[in-house]
Amino acid sequence: MSLDGTYDDGNIFARILRGEAPAVRVFEDDHVLAFMDVFPQSRGHALVIPKHSAARTLLDAEPQVVGPLMLGVQRVARAVRSALKPDGISIMQFNGAPAGQTVFHLHVHIIPRWEGQALGRHAGGMADLKELQAVAQQIAAQIT
Ligand code: 5GP
Repeated sequence: MSLDGTYDDGNIFARILRGEAPAVRVFEDDHVLAFMDVFPQSRGHALVIPKHSAARTLLDAEPQVVGPLMLGVQRVARAVRSALKPDGISIMQFNGAPAGQTVFHLHVHIIPRWEGQALGRHAGGMADLKELQAVAQQIAAQIT
């Protein structure tokens, strides 16, 4: 899938938004939903997606979607910092398959980083559900 294409509302994130597929949710407001990446690249890897958008990529995004999305990212990233005390946080966003995008509903990655720990493989091994729920609760408790 390249940068061009039509939005497919059968994608996994659209299904999560509609409650048709499970997700370990962290935070939600009128504009965004945040949930844990089920194939995390580090402990606490979360995703933030717009709730009312048919954008596949940032380039497609409706103007009214971008600001609230980034505010949601900042809010969740601050909660990740408070909850997990990482040494850094990578905020990542991929557009088009050659750039690493695998799910074609606009989303932003929040990936906590620790000194000396390499980034895990993108969309690699599946997390333990109980661990994911525990870390999601820790992060959710720090949302302000
Ligand atoms: P992209 O590669 O499109 O930037 O990121 C998609 C992300 O979604 C990947 O990091 C991948 O691990 C994650 N992912 C794929 N399928 C699912 C799923 O069913 N549930 C959750 N929570 N994350 C998923």
